[in-house]
Amino acid sequence: MNTGDMWRAMLRMEVGAKAALVPVEGNNLTPMSIVIRNGQKSAKCPVTVWWADDGPPSMFCLEDGTSTAILFSTRCLQLDAQARWLVGNTSFRAGACELAYRLSLTRLSEHLLMLGQHRLALSAVLESIREQTIFAPFCRRWQDLEYLEVDEAYMALWFFGLGHEFGHVLSNGALSSSPLASRFEEIAESAVTKVLSELIWPIQIKRLLVERAHSAESSLSIHPSSLREECLADVGACSLLHESSQEALQLLGREMDFASFAWEMLAVGVVRSFNDSALALARVVSDPNPTSHALTALSSLVAVNVRLVFRRLYLEHSWATAKDSAYVSAYLDAMVGQLQEDCKTLEDSMGAAARFLLLSKETEPTILPSWLKPSIVGDITGEVRTTLKVFVSLARSFSTDCSEIHALGSLIDA
Ligand SMILES: [Zn+2]
Repeated sequence: MNTGDMWRAMLRMEVGAKAALVPVEGNNLTPMSIVIRNGQKSAKCPVTVWWADDGPPSMFCLEDGTSTAILFSTRCLQLDAQARWLVGNTSFRAGACELAYRLSLTRLSEHLLMLGQHRLALSAVLESIREQTIFAPFCRRWQDLEYLEVDEAYMALWFFGLGHEFGHVLSNGALSSSPLASRFEEIAESAVTKVLSELIWPIQIKRLLVERAHSAESSLSIHPSSLREECLADVGACSLLHESSQEALQLLGREMDFASFAWEMLAVGVVRSFNDSALALARVVSDPNPTSHALTALSSLVAVNVRLVFRRLYLEHSWATAKDSAYVSAYLDAMVGQLQEDCKTLEDSMGAAARFLLLSKETEPTILPSWLKPSIVGDITGEVRTTLKVFVSLARSFSTDCSEIHALGSLIDA
């Protein structure tokens, strides 16, 4: 078996039977090629990039000791675009909590399908559409994403996740000499303390969290080595996208605006860490003993904020040479302050979604709920129908044997 076939077989196990898997080359002048080419140039080993269409929201890298495969997917970009629209959008505050809750359930439902928890995934997707009257007005359709103007926001939305995965391959090489890497422990410790001091949690729980996170076998996201790995991969993404966005925008005859770039790096990073929290919580709710993971949610909220601090420091460092440093620092502080509010909204909604699923575990549905009428499945806007169609198709891709999902599929196919 050649390397391409080996990676294809390994990735296939992650993305389900029906996803289309295509290797993407970095050999032309599209923004994606520019990012891939620059990433491959700075990686410590050969990297192939794979695109999955019609699959779950996957974005990860796999290493086999000599080479790396990075996977990114259409579904991931679609969900990220919806979450990105919620982050930093002050004009839609009133509906933000509800949309964030529904989006959390959608993400959880798809991660649960991948974990083989099909019945729980069905509960999540049904709750995500129940009595839905408000919809995020942006990027529901794939074409909306494809036809976006190429600018700082486009580069970040499309490629921050890819850059982060490249960041995992760069982190031992290119970033090891960075001041952020050499002072990592000191910066991270004070960031964790600061984030914890701002959260309204009992002091005993905060102490327990820090104690557990430092034990060698800890899988918490604030365990020093995993936190270091993720923070440096984020910084790697900023560095790769800095270079690649300049190049892509130059081809269009314009200069990159660093202020817009910085804002996007901070905001899209929050969206990506939100996905990591969803994955962690999907594992928690599907565990037979979920309460043993109570610290996971708190740890992930802290990690999101610490990662934000690191990206801010990197951006300050790369920007300060051209601008007045007091101005840069105040500007970045204001952005981080606004994003911390959004992190809280996203994490609260994710927590509420997880609580809903833990309760519904006790009362698993044996039939589809009576409110799920054909009129809802075939709704006029098509939004609810699309959500359910994507879900059923993904469940089929993971060979579901859940009879309620089959019943839902018949309702949609009819
Ligand atoms: Zn990562």
